[in-house]
Amino acid sequence: MKLPAKATITERGAVLLGESVACDAFHETRPLRVVTHAHADHLMGLGRSLKNCEKVLMTKATRDLIKATQSPTALKTGTIKTLEYGKALEHGNERITLIKADHILGAAQVLVENANGDRVVYTGDFRLDGTPVLDDCDILVVEATYGHPSFRRSFNVDVRDLLVSMVEKRLRLGTVYIFGFHGKLQEVMQILHNADVTVPFIMPERVFHVSKVCEKHGMQLGCLTPATKKEAKELLEGNLPCVAFYHVNARGTVGLDCSRIWVSGWEFRSPARQTGFKEHVVALSDHSDFNGLIEYVRRSKPKKVITDNYRASDGDILAKEITKRLGIPAVAMPRKLRPGQQQLPIDG
Ligand SMILES: [Zn+2]
Repeated sequence: MKLPAKATITERGAVLLGESVACDAFHETRPLRVVTHAHADHLMGLGRSLKNCEKVLMTKATRDLIKATQSPTALKTGTIKTLEYGKALEHGNERITLIKADHILGAAQVLVENANGDRVVYTGDFRLDGTPVLDDCDILVVEATYGHPSFRRSFNVDVRDLLVSMVEKRLRLGTVYIFGFHGKLQEVMQILHNADVTVPFIMPERVFHVSKVCEKHGMQLGCLTPATKKEAKELLEGNLPCVAFYHVNARGTVGLDCSRIWVSGWEFRSPARQTGFKEHVVALSDHSDFNGLIEYVRRSKPKKVITDNYRASDGDILAKEITKRLGIPAVAMPRKLRPGQQQLPIDG
């Protein structure tokens, strides 16, 4: 009997693919857990997965980033199986492959194929530019962060070039603080380093550890200095030319009198705007905007689409737009359920 390809997203955010895989949250029925990347909303229930699952799959870079952002002991128990991009793992009747997603270091899409030739794909978080589009799948599960049609960034300038020129201009006045999430901060370091910005890059311990992991996995980031070092303290205290990189959570507490740039994807009207005294936000995103999400689905030509309505609030709207624009059946999951009603997987 031909079993239908299956996929669903549970009320707790687990993306279930085929028979054996749960991505990005724990699910008690699945022997394999996949972690698509090291951002917190994709690490849910990781401790339970390590305790209960046969294997927890991720790339080596994601493993190293989890240790750096969570704790060195976060992955001590359980069986971690690291997979290279493109190398498949066989499990029962299924074959699981991680494929590069352009998001943060180590990020992966997940392809599950079964003996019948059914293909189920989960994009994880991605930016279209550097992400291979997986096509001909029975079900495509797509992220929906910028799933509303108003979330489009069609600027006439290269945001990276703009960021470099803003930093260079402000360095003439002293220290420039950059605020962003892990992964994005390191992308900014790489952009500045590639543009020959050679001042010291100063950062607190955790950002330093994450950056060292990125270097270990091939990124070139420049002259990295922990903020605890004497020379770093002197530069910061004297407001001398250097770039200080802090997690966005520190935005309210450090560098308050200095030039400040905050990198955020939640900007759609202009590539940069002033948000406070000597503070600007720059529209640098590691996600596709609405057009990029639609474009991925258009190129992928899946039979059905599920939009991730757990990690984003516009999954419903994105599903409707996919059906309207591309004629492909699409549904947002998890749906808003009535009490006692069960979430059913859509078949392929
Ligand atoms: Zn992410």
